[in-house]
Amino acid sequence: MGKIERITGPLVVAKEMLGSSMYDVVKVGELGLIGEIIQLRGDRAIVQVYEDTSGIRPGEPVKSLGMPLSVELGPGIVGKIFDGLQRPLEEIEKKTGAFIARGVNILSLDRKAKWKFVPIAKKGSEVKEGEAIGYVDETKLVRHYILVPYGLGGKIESIKEGSYTITEPIATIKKADGKEASISMMQTRPVRRPAKVRRRIDITEPLITGQRVIDTFFPVGKGGTAAIPGPFGSGKTVTQHQLAKWSDANIIVYCGAGERGNEMAEVLTEFPELKDPRTNEPLMSRTVLIANTSNMPVAAREASIFTSVAIAEYFRDMGYSVAVMADSTSRWAEAMREISTRLEEMPGEEGYPAYLPRRLAEFYERAGKVETLSGKVGAVTIIGAVSPPGGDLTEPVTQGTLKIVKTFWSLDAALASSRHFPAINWLNSYSLYLDMLEPWYKEKIGEEWLRNREEALKLLQQEADLRDIVQLVGEEALPNQQRIVLEIGKMLREDFLRQNAYDDIDTYTSLNKQNLMLSTMLHFAKKGMEATEKGVPTEQIIGTNCRHEIARMKEVKESEIVEAAKKINEEIEKEISELIRKQEQTLQAAASQR
Ligand code: ADP
Repeated sequence: MGKIERITGPLVVAKEMLGSSMYDVVKVGELGLIGEIIQLRGDRAIVQVYEDTSGIRPGEPVKSLGMPLSVELGPGIVGKIFDGLQRPLEEIEKKTGAFIARGVNILSLDRKAKWKFVPIAKKGSEVKEGEAIGYVDETKLVRHYILVPYGLGGKIESIKEGSYTITEPIATIKKADGKEASISMMQTRPVRRPAKVRRRIDITEPLITGQRVIDTFFPVGKGGTAAIPGPFGSGKTVTQHQLAKWSDANIIVYCGAGERGNEMAEVLTEFPELKDPRTNEPLMSRTVLIANTSNMPVAAREASIFTSVAIAEYFRDMGYSVAVMADSTSRWAEAMREISTRLEEMPGEEGYPAYLPRRLAEFYERAGKVETLSGKVGAVTIIGAVSPPGGDLTEPVTQGTLKIVKTFWSLDAALASSRHFPAINWLNSYSLYLDMLEPWYKEKIGEEWLRNREEALKLLQQEADLRDIVQLVGEEALPNQQRIVLEIGKMLREDFLRQNAYDDIDTYTSLNKQNLMLSTMLHFAKKGMEATEKGVPTEQIIGTNCRHEIARMKEVKESEIVEAAKKINEEIEKEISELIRKQEQTLQAAASQR
């Protein structure tokens, strides 16, 4: 047991701490505030405290728990709202009122609740660590597999169906050394250490979000990483809700790593009201929320980030696809900067510690698609929001993040103010997953998918270049060949990229519908340019009925889209060929008059 020597904000220097290890959890002061050892110097330990340190004094005790910061894992975790130290907010509130008292000792998971356990493994069978021996149907959306904890394995001596609390034994096994061990439904894992896996495997599938600009243009792979900057009012919250609602992950872990108090409150009130649109169950039935309350010090942001990924990995190890949404990693980085300054470390860029990039990498590297210890396939996808001050993407946190993540959705304040939603800028967003996903698209959607994507992006780029010129000379000065490109760009922007989160149909578009929409638009583009070459005026091309029908494709129900697309494509052929024919006739008539 050590003693407090010095306190500076969230940092406490404790003496007489020989025998403790880096990242041990300690209880600080008479209140027993929770902290983590982040440096050892001789018998001195520097402790990052995750609760408000005001009022504690030098001389008070510091006790190492001799174990790293860990999470409790087992039934009762889904649908819960925890703070960064995995304390259940609702229970804390019940115990101490809305203002969280410090040093409260509340267990993460409910010890009294009973869960119906259904065995999979049989008496006499051999089981290894990480293998599922049974399950609990925790919510209507989540079958929670009970995995053999790390370090255990052997022959099942007994296992039986029934209702148990998470600490009661559900099975006993005989280990290789002949000793018996019992298994309960709860296990703990250290948060900073990546969970064990058999191996990492290649990313081959996209995370499907139903959001056209993401799925078609800038997809993230299941097991991949993405970053989204969020200037205020740019639609970050709506985008994140859309991802949480629609992405085809089995589990969502949403980490509010210390956004401004009111924003987090918004998540806390809004999330529990959202419905899973596919099943109409509450979205919380497949969600775990980690939320730092505003009275927790900034240092706790670090804990909440790692708590979130540790929970995500646990569900991944059951063979699930999990999406972690961290909001916002900038606030976490700011906390690192604060701690680093207090430690008087050599500052790097803009005062951030030199190890900022490494820390960011340690977080994003926990994403991945893996073969689990039991041979299942699972994935953790990490989507991190960054909040660059003033929308300046060159600042260190954004830059550090962009070096790691493979997808970038560039939310753009200018687009948002012109009411183009989702305000993801198609000119500077990117995805590096396309090569990996290509075979999947070819097999599941069609050969044309990536070709269409490329062609559409090229047209959008051309449109952007032309719009710069139009600003200078006006649209009338452009030849028809360029005006038609402007019109096609407008069609792609307004009728494909724009997507209304609040419209019943438009809120989600399947990949098949996305493919049909884009193919149809590109068909129109091709015929439109052909007609332009023949001299048909731009107004006539965009005045066609098929052009109006294209604009309404987003309103067509999934069940009717194949038929609708077929009709529109026929119409494109017919109407535009007719325009060309008439144009040729006019030209001939004019020629014969001369
Ligand atoms: P932020 O969280 O970045 O401050 P919000 O996500 O709250 O911004 O979005 C601000 C407003 O923009 C919303 O209230 C909504 O009116 C509009 N908006 C954002 N995204 C969409 C979308 N995909 N569809 C329709 N409206 C949107």
